[in-house]
Amino acid sequence: MKVYGRITVFPIMPARINRLYELAYNLWWSWHPEARALYSSLDPELWEQVSHNPVHFLSRIQPQKLGQAAENIIYLKEYDGVIRDFDHYIHPRPEETWFSTTYPEAQGKQIAYFSAEFGLHESLPIYSGGLGILSGDHCKEASDLGLPFIGVGFLYPQGYFIQRVNQAGRQEASYDKLHFSEVPAVPATGPDGNEVVISVELPGRRIYAKVWKLLVGRIPLYLMDTDIPPNAPADRELSARLYGGDNEMRISQEIVLGIGGVRALRALGISPNAWHLNEGHAAFLSLERCRELVEAGLSFNEAREVVKTNSLFTTHTPVPAGNDTFSYELIDTYFGSYWGQLGLSRDQFMEVAREDHSWGPSYSMTILALKLTRHHNGVSALHGDVSRKMWQFLWPGLDKDEVPIGSITNGVHTFSWIAPELNELYGRYLDMDWGKYVDDQEFWDTHIQNIPDQELWSAHFKRKEALVGYATRNLKKQHLRLGEGDRQLAEFENMLNPKALIIGFARRFATYKRATLIFRNLERLRHILNDPKRPVQIVFAGKAHPADEPGKALIEYIYKMSRSDEFKGKIIFLENYDIDMARYLVSGTDVWLNNPVRPYEASGTSGQKAALNGQPNCSILDGWWAEGYNGKNGWAIGQERDYHDPEIQAEDDSNSLYEILEQEIIPTFFDQDAEGVSHKWVNYMKEAIRTCAPEFSMRRMVKDYTNTYYVPEIRRSIQVVENHYEQERQLAAWKERVYRAWDKLELYVDGRRAGQLSIGEGFEVRAWVRANNLRPKDICVELVYGETNDELAIPRHTLPMSYIKTENDGSYRYDIEMKPDKSGSLAYNIRVIPSHPSLTEKYELGLIRWA
Ligand SMILES: *Cc1c(COP(=O)(O)O)cnc(C)c1O
Repeated sequence: MKVYGRITVFPIMPARINRLYELAYNLWWSWHPEARALYSSLDPELWEQVSHNPVHFLSRIQPQKLGQAAENIIYLKEYDGVIRDFDHYIHPRPEETWFSTTYPEAQGKQIAYFSAEFGLHESLPIYSGGLGILSGDHCKEASDLGLPFIGVGFLYPQGYFIQRVNQAGRQEASYDKLHFSEVPAVPATGPDGNEVVISVELPGRRIYAKVWKLLVGRIPLYLMDTDIPPNAPADRELSARLYGGDNEMRISQEIVLGIGGVRALRALGISPNAWHLNEGHAAFLSLERCRELVEAGLSFNEAREVVKTNSLFTTHTPVPAGNDTFSYELIDTYFGSYWGQLGLSRDQFMEVAREDHSWGPSYSMTILALKLTRHHNGVSALHGDVSRKMWQFLWPGLDKDEVPIGSITNGVHTFSWIAPELNELYGRYLDMDWGKYVDDQEFWDTHIQNIPDQELWSAHFKRKEALVGYATRNLKKQHLRLGEGDRQLAEFENMLNPKALIIGFARRFATYKRATLIFRNLERLRHILNDPKRPVQIVFAGKAHPADEPGKALIEYIYKMSRSDEFKGKIIFLENYDIDMARYLVSGTDVWLNNPVRPYEASGTSGQKAALNGQPNCSILDGWWAEGYNGKNGWAIGQERDYHDPEIQAEDDSNSLYEILEQEIIPTFFDQDAEGVSHKWVNYMKEAIRTCAPEFSMRRMVKDYTNTYYVPEIRRSIQVVENHYEQERQLAAWKERVYRAWDKLELYVDGRRAGQLSIGEGFEVRAWVRANNLRPKDICVELVYGETNDELAIPRHTLPMSYIKTENDGSYRYDIEMKPDKSGSLAYNIRVIPSHPSLTEKYELGLIRWA
């Protein structure tokens, strides 16, 4: 039948347990296993069928099962306990959350977080990979810490695709329709009680989006959907899929996310004090905020200052495909009627986000985001460094290390990723309430040895058995679909062996992640996998973007290997990697493998989940592992350096990987006592937990974001409103003056250009700046010095020079005495930068004049 409407009918719930509904509509259950058990225990089979989604579950359950539960004393005791915990969580006393006790003055303020994807639970396929999982975890932790946090994104009716792998190993993408009536989301309502529908202009038409509200513990997510009347059919499809369609689809979605997202918040009566752009997809939001202020009477430059003060942009990847750019023609089509509303000409509008490629300028979402936010960060120390290099051209004259892009290393939400067996073990040996100490390094340092080796080994072994069961179901389901016979299906029964050393590799199949690196030398791999006394297996999983042919070819290669006579049962590919499978893998394999091309893995988080569950990582020193690795908590593949030839890099890295497997991982794992426990291996496990669980937790991460960015932005936004934008207006006017005057600025220096000194001796350096229309307080003159290394001078130190006087010819004189405190070869130079007390970033203007 063709479907016209679809209505979900819930059974009548016995009054005694009627809060099961309310609970189902708050994703709090996704990180509280005891809450999930209230549903799954009623009908475990149905629970699997509905992808662990309690709303869908309640619509399908037989009413008598609910009736029985309402009379079952044991069930009711569990139920009452969960409801008590839930109520306590949702309504804490102020002194009970980290945020309210640390920043009482920020009570009642709000932080808006925009992201194109949110990975919260397997039943909500509105994420594709690491970026989405990070957003989902960020929200959960923001809730745990009591942050006044609001997420904004899409409720894609089809979401990201379901992966099926066919007989030939080809990935096939299919999309299930997500029925919103079966999703834990409700229509969002505004202050007037009406459902919120917003609109944005697209070429030749206006399109509408309905706003849904999803509760993640204490915080709301507002998710938009365009599949509503009166949108034309094509527009109703606009938000159907995550990362589907062409550039027109992309830009339309990003207009809805950024511009529509701001309008949704306004319609909900929300005025955030801090704005976080999670990746460039949402960058149009800053334009919309500028438009609002221009409408209120500010100039674009003034508006930009206001918008920047409380905006943060996090960049997530140095890979070009992750940095959206649009052609000027496309921008003309989509923003032709917009720049006028900002009081800008076309050229001025384009200039804001201009990127110059060799084939002509394009409009870059990353540049737009960088230019309209005051704070910017990468997602690991190394990625911060790579980003500074990558975007250095936006701050001409600045040394790479001075480019104002910081870093906060990613983490994972502990209770979304800890396996039940490990959670229980930590409760028994670390502390009943170990969750309180998640990010407390000292706690882990002092408690980890309390866990007996045997117990850690056997808790982990239970996880391996759980993975074996999961893999068996997954493989049988796939091959049943592919039409295999009973005898073939039986082959998949316990294909994984819990006694084997199981290597896990699961991630998106982007080519830079090099999923097939371990196959580079088949002879050597064969040798590793074929020792009957030391069985080794490798489990692979991951999706390639549907348009990524090279990525799909990697899947095909691995799938064919897994079906070959030679590697059958040694190499295993599981289809449709998602959050559910990830939970099995990160806790159920023994060692977590990651071998991307350094430095493209901005952070990576699956290895953090693995370490939390006692798996040592074996990884390239890229992303988070460059910080996490300490020589005892896992292994480092290859060297900590960059290569220019990817072939040579792959050769070196694969050889290093084989050597680590042959010399270290396999011998250590199989060095087992009479009980089958390898104490040496357990040492690695404990060290992985001790070092990674606190440092790479989402708790540490969200606290870092709060302390470094959110709270300073909130404070600043309060001032901005209190002084009616006065400071920002002045700053904008001052910047315009500086930009105009800068070209004519002249700098002369008189100082030693060569010679020798003894330690303790100094020499005078003088500088004169001639600058029409600038006063000495508008600029800062600095002496920059550092050691020379070959021909390269590395600027390490910056000393401000003192303004002495204005000379008769109108130039300003500055002096300093340079007194080196170290011997060696030293290089120095003098430079001028603009300076203003309202600047929070010293180099914000991107203006610098060297002598
Ligand atoms: C954690 C996770 C990712 C991200 O893992 P990376 O190590 O960053 O590649 C992707 N997909 C799923 C399902 C995950 O759980």
